[in-house]
Amino acid sequence: MKNVTVLAGGVGGARFTRGLLAHLAQAHPLATVTVIVNTGDDMWLDGLRICPDLDTVMYTLGGGINEDQGWGRPEETRRTSAEIAAYGRGWSWFTLGDLDLATHIVRTDLLRAGSTLSEATEFLCRRWQPGARLLPMSDQPVETHVRLAESVDEHRAGELMHFEEWWVRYRARIPVTEFVQQGLSGSVAAPGVLEAIDSADLVILPPSNPVVSVGTILDVPGIRDALRTTSAPVVGVAPIIGGGAVRGMADACLHTIGVDTSALAVGLHYGARSAGGVLDAWLVDETDAAALPQLAAAGIRSLAVPLWMHDVPTTAAMAAAVLAVAVAGAT
Ligand code: GDP
Ligand code: CA
Repeated sequence: MKNVTVLAGGVGGARFTRGLLAHLAQAHPLATVTVIVNTGDDMWLDGLRICPDLDTVMYTLGGGINEDQGWGRPEETRRTSAEIAAYGRGWSWFTLGDLDLATHIVRTDLLRAGSTLSEATEFLCRRWQPGARLLPMSDQPVETHVRLAESVDEHRAGELMHFEEWWVRYRARIPVTEFVQQGLSGSVAAPGVLEAIDSADLVILPPSNPVVSVGTILDVPGIRDALRTTSAPVVGVAPIIGGGAVRGMADACLHTIGVDTSALAVGLHYGARSAGGVLDAWLVDETDAAALPQLAAAGIRSLAVPLWMHDVPTTAAMAAAVLAVAVAGAT
């Protein structure tokens, strides 16, 4: 096991990858990990480029995450946000801490000076030393929006709203008819992304949001095909346990695209590689063991193990199960 590639969103992808690195340090100390991170949640805010998922992965792996929130920095202050609000600017529902703002300022400065997002990410990671190579899925801006089914505040039914506003301001409680991924179909995978999938010994879909995190990455032209054709096994981890999204609001996203909130439905949504999908194997939680026969019938090898990422050791055990199921398929 030399090269492991993970397709990650924010909190779920970051926490899983932290456990993966802990497991590999013990079991495969020479292995290297590449994390291809969703950038569909990126946005401009107060003149700054914000990359929520890249930052969550970078801070989590680099030891700078606010563990309770799952995003942002610990021991934050909000003085700058308060000053911006005093001017009547900014988005009151998306607070940026003062320490976190430094990351966005440095990134925006690099982008304005002509760096690509990949280059800016590499630069930021020199400080955080995440222990894995972090690649944005694309260097082109891709922004996920939702189309509103109902009017709310200043927004009219039928209009588009940035995904982060729907998610953070409205807690995904307003019905939406579709996700519109602006810039996605014309985007190009960032340098190294397709190679990281092609040359991997194992590709992992961690327990990230299957619609707006992993789904977005898979829709970057070339990435889904790379998953279908890589010689590496592709193993996924269910982000749903016992019919409920574990943390966050993945069920609102799944509902919008017509997929049930269950480990089985998400596994079938990704589909077996042997049937044109992207998975060879799929881990479900022990409470979802009843799904195994249907997954097997669909051509997806699966295993039921505890999938709550309580802490690093329990998450490392999940990563060990991913490696075990990957190896089992090779024999
Ligand atoms: P986001 O970009 O911050 O929303 O993070 P991701 O897309 O990477 O992952 C969010 C999803 O991770 C949540 O919607 C849950 O479905 C899943 N998740 C979070 N914590 C856990 C956990 O402990 N176990 C499992 N199996 N899934 C989890
Ligand atoms: Ca996200």
